[in-house]
Amino acid sequence: VTVKKYLFAPGPTPVPPQVLAAMAEPIVHHRGADFRVVYKRCLERLQEVFRTEQDVLLFAASGTGAMESAVANLLGPGVPVLVISAGSFGERWHALAQAYGCDVDLLGYDWGETPSPEDVAARLSARPAKAVLMTQSETSTGVVSDVRALAAAAREGGALSVVDAISSLGAVPLETDAWGVDVVVSGSQKALMTPPGLAMVSVSERAWAALGTAPRFYYDWETTRVAQGKHDAAFTPAVSLIAGLDVALGMLLETGLEAAFAHHARLGAAAREGAKAMGLELFSPDEERSAVVTAIRSPDGVDSDDLLRLLSSEWGVTLAPGQARLKGRIFRIGHIGWYDVFDITTALAAVELGLDALGADVERGVAVTRALEAYSQSLRV
Ligand SMILES: *Cc1c(COP(=O)(O)O)cnc(C)c1O
Repeated sequence: VTVKKYLFAPGPTPVPPQVLAAMAEPIVHHRGADFRVVYKRCLERLQEVFRTEQDVLLFAASGTGAMESAVANLLGPGVPVLVISAGSFGERWHALAQAYGCDVDLLGYDWGETPSPEDVAARLSARPAKAVLMTQSETSTGVVSDVRALAAAAREGGALSVVDAISSLGAVPLETDAWGVDVVVSGSQKALMTPPGLAMVSVSERAWAALGTAPRFYYDWETTRVAQGKHDAAFTPAVSLIAGLDVALGMLLETGLEAAFAHHARLGAAAREGAKAMGLELFSPDEERSAVVTAIRSPDGVDSDDLLRLLSSEWGVTLAPGQARLKGRIFRIGHIGWYDVFDITTALAAVELGLDALGADVERGVAVTRALEAYSQSLRV
């Protein structure tokens, strides 16, 4: 039997039909006039979504490629760097900085904690660093950090701020220029409603003036900046993905970023209220900012991996598992990009059915109602 599929993960996320259609168009040559129009518009739209006047550099890579580009262009062997880590993606920054031989100071938190700007200030005054690597939305835990305050602490401490906004850009506010964030890294497959495969990075004037000497080639920022300035990519760009991203960014900007942020906050509220009504305990913070992914503790006696396997095999529903030390203990409902309230109620209904089938003691028949109430209440305010 073919089961209908429902994707409720925080990346890759569902892609709107208009975007899929744009990617199914015949391939155009990347140095021809047809592509130049799309490339130029897509790069301009990226600046609007990043809220920056600076160029946004575009690479064919998963999001990690853009993270690596930041380390390769700014840091290198022996360069002092402060890494903030409170989950799986903070650990990725840490591993990357170590792979490049940086002199790493780790500001580590328990998974699920929210990093504090005071801690950043204290670390930097004890041990100056060239840059602070941080994560806006720690997708493994559902925590969204106060990037504005963390970036200010970095700046006041004499360091550049480098932000992984891969799951947060387009979902929660990020004012790159207004907040003085030096480097913002993102990817196509989360709130930007495009398949995996494109990575982007914005670079402030301060960061351009502080380029390092580590070896790099494909990810050399200057090479890409010069080529993009002529709308003539340095290497063959992912033409079909860029055609898709252009349409997706057009949709996002037509809705408006503020409306998109409000939409994500509402979906987060609906997910949290629905889960709590069922009697489940949240792992991610019960706060409005936590609008990217809702992490929920598995009830006692239920391995969340068993729940996810059942949801997938029985009903074609994909949620995200707990990673590493949270494996089996939590599950996550993503709500970034092309999601609406009915995706939330479907995900909650599936969780209710699945947990009941596994013998967990859940409150039946209330989660969907409570989620819809939370959603409509937030529409009225
Ligand atoms: C998804 C995600 C990444 C990305 O990685 P890929 O290289 O695209 O797999 C990095 N950081 C965060 C916070 C993410 O959510």
